[in-house]
Parts: sequence; structure tokens; C-alpha cells
Amino acid sequence: MFLVGLTGGIASGKSTVSSQLKELGCPVIDADVVAQKVVEFQSPAYKLILQHFGREVLLENGEIDRKKLGQIIFSNPEKRRLLNSITHPLIHKEMFRQILLYFIKGYRYVILDVPLLFETRRLTRFLTHTVVVYCDPATQLSRLMQRDALSHEEAQQRIAAQMPLKEKRGLASHVMENSGSREDTHRQVLRLHTKLEDSMEFLVVRAVAVAAVAGLCGLFLCTVKLLIS
Ligand code: ADP
Repeated sequence: MFLVGLTGGIASGKSTVSSQLKELGCPVIDADVVAQKVVEFQSPAYKLILQHFGREVLLENGEIDRKKLGQIIFSNPEKRRLLNSITHPLIHKEMFRQILLYFIKGYRYVILDVPLLFETRRLTRFLTHTVVVYCDPATQLSRLMQRDALSHEEAQQRIAAQMPLKEKRGLASHVMENSGSREDTHRQVLRLHTKLEDSMEFLVVRAVAVAAVAGLCGLFLCTVKLLIS
């Protein structure tokens, strides 16, 4: 099995590409969904967040108000580090569990949909390919304003708060150009899908896994032989 990172900038079209890949049957792990799961009501992360951030970050139904939490950490780097130290290990553990399940089921690759892939950099060393969904700055701005009903200034602020999309493009092994039509992007998604399906890179991890299992069996047999001789 090999891992593929999928990322982009706000409103560059990552979710659109991710949905198209899912429709084609690709296994996709969405880091945002995992992040929501780890802070579910009464989970270990939930309790720690409550302990450090207080009840002000709760919704009326007792769940974490992720939007409020996002606002708090946006302007406070120390609190952001604290929240990350609570959630990131649990997010990575859950993602690893899901990857392992796909591996056991015999999938050849898994796509990790991670908005801040290059900002946190924790996962990049495990990835065989990185895909950035790119669109030009004017298109990104107008799509963001339209999707989230934001003013020109608000949208610009959100874009400026992220690593520049051009920089992410430079770090990726594969760029998905999404400034044009949806059909054009879909054609690129189909090409990427074919490339992943045809790739033999999954054999490396399978060979290592088979060698590890064979090694363990050998060790076990040697121990048994020693014990009965
Ligand atoms: P992200 O997940 O990167 O934030 P989205 O996939 O939600 O971005 O796309 C942002 C907005 O732009 C959405 O409203 C989406 O429907 C729209 N969009 C995405 N790609 C295209 C495209 N090629 N043409 C027109 N609109 C698009």
C-alpha cells in the first residue's frame, strides 16, 4: 500500500476533487471528519478541551463549538499549540487505524485529504505522492466569497491567513489545475485515478509486510524447536 496526500488552499477545490475521487471508488480519509470524531461528546479530547478552555467553547447541546474554538486559537498561538497538542496525536492515531483497516482489506493506496498538510508537515514523510488542488488567486477569491457569503475583505483575510497556494503548489508532486471548468478538473481527476490504479508502488509495503510476517514465523519456529529439544 502507498499513501497519497491531497491538499489545497481555502476554496481552491479540494473538497470537489475529493468527492470526485470517492465517486470513483478511491479510499479517502478526510482529516476534517476525523478531527470532528476525536472531539465527540465525552471523548478523551473533549474532556481535555473542556478542562483547558472552559464551558465557553460548548454549544447548548453540550458538544464542542468548533467554530468558537477556531476563533479563539486564530488569534492566540499559545492556545493553538495547546489545542493541537491535545487533538493531533489522537487524529493521527485514528487516521493510522483507518489506514490499517484499508491495508488489511487489501487496498493498494489510500488518499489522505488533509487541509493543512504542508503547514503541519507531520504526515508528509509517509506519503508517496502529494496532490495540490490549485486555482489562480482571482478565482479562489471569487469562489470563496460566493461559497461562504463573505465580503471581499473577509475573503482576502482568510486566504492571507494560510500558506500561499503558490508555495503549496511548489511543494507538491502533482498539481490539479482547478481554475477552469468542473469538466476540465474531472478529466484531470480521471487521469490521476488511472495513474494510482496502475501504480505498482503498493508492492513495496506488501513485500515488507510479508517479509516481517515470515521473519516472525521463523522466530516462532526456532523458539519452539529450542523449547522441545
Ligand atoms: P475547498 O474544499 O478547497 O475549500 P471547494 O471544493 O469547496 O473548495 O470549492 C470551493 C467552491 O468553488 C465551491 O462552492 C465549489 O462548488 C466551487 N468550485 C470548485 N471547483 C469549481 C470549478 N472548477 N468551477 C466552478 N466552481 C467550482
